[in-house]
Amino acid sequence: MVASDICPREKEFQTVLETLCRELTRVVHGGNRYECILFAGSGTAVMDACINSVVPPGKKILIVNNGAYGQRMVNIAAAYGIEVVEYALPGDTPPDLHELDRRLQGDSDIACVAMIHHETTTGLLNPVKEAGAIVHKLDRVFIVDAISSYAALPISIEDWKIDFLLSTSNKCIQGMAGIGIVIADREKLEKTAFYPKRSYYLNLHQQYAYFKKSGQLPFTAPVQVVYALAQATKEYFEEGEANRWARYQGNWKLLYQGLIELGYRMLLPVERESGVLIAVREPTHPKFDFNDLHDRLYEMGFTIYPGKIETNRTFRLAVIGDLYVEDMNQFLASLRRAMEAMGIQGNLYPEQ
Ligand SMILES: *Cc1c(COP(=O)(O)O)cnc(C)c1O
Repeated sequence: MVASDICPREKEFQTVLETLCRELTRVVHGGNRYECILFAGSGTAVMDACINSVVPPGKKILIVNNGAYGQRMVNIAAAYGIEVVEYALPGDTPPDLHELDRRLQGDSDIACVAMIHHETTTGLLNPVKEAGAIVHKLDRVFIVDAISSYAALPISIEDWKIDFLLSTSNKCIQGMAGIGIVIADREKLEKTAFYPKRSYYLNLHQQYAYFKKSGQLPFTAPVQVVYALAQATKEYFEEGEANRWARYQGNWKLLYQGLIELGYRMLLPVERESGVLIAVREPTHPKFDFNDLHDRLYEMGFTIYPGKIETNRTFRLAVIGDLYVEDMNQFLASLRRAMEAMGIQGNLYPEQ
């Protein structure tokens, strides 16, 4: 981020943006068919831009909702008065592909299908590749929020039949917060040019067309965050796709194993876990208190995150970031120490 604070309308900055867009597309193996569109904003900005820009007037969007981020997509569509066909499921359950196929066949007004790849609420992985085959077979547009999987899990945008893929600068690509990323199939994107504009600022085609014409973003770019993302992308390719994923999985397994040894139970069956995040069932032990544990760990340099589902109390741990084996071991040692200090021993889940 410590780079010269140049005007984002300078030629020099255009080169930075153009290179960055090419590299961000390359992360998901996108070839010449794909365009990368950037917005200043958090991940939700691109969820908003994509949903409001891509659903044709008078048509519907089917949204798979099995967590807080699926719910957010439903809320965004509702805010624009876009008709939603909600495929709602419990937080531990991926969609049934036959059911998805059946629902799409039964309603030709559904123009788009949207799904979260890695539901960060729980750590659940949704079957994007398998769903993509169905969505394209039935000639619908496929929107995938890969915000917390992009640059960790290997993704192949073309093979997986994703038309619009969303990510952000601050998760597994390991940059700083402030840029939303869309990687779009150009042909599908061009089709949206004449849809009615539902948002003045968050319009996908407008952002794309302006960038094509001028090499700039239509509104002020977060210059320093762009530099940080360019550096993060460089580091991604230096590490390599396979090594990045192996590091995340290695960290995740260490963390998972350590938690099991301490007596914790997880929300999901292990075969549904993403390998990026763990939703841990909150112990029912009388001495356990999430906020107390949080504060003790915070003092030792770690942040743990509360859960986001109402039916089961959980807290969440993720291996997103420039983290290594030593970090996992240090965290587990700190967790053990905090539990000892709180007097938590024996069965963490009495009467369960
Ligand atoms: C983080 C995240 C988002 C975006 O959240 P912001 O707070 O707007 O950055 C969207 N979808 C998923 C799956 C996420 O993990």
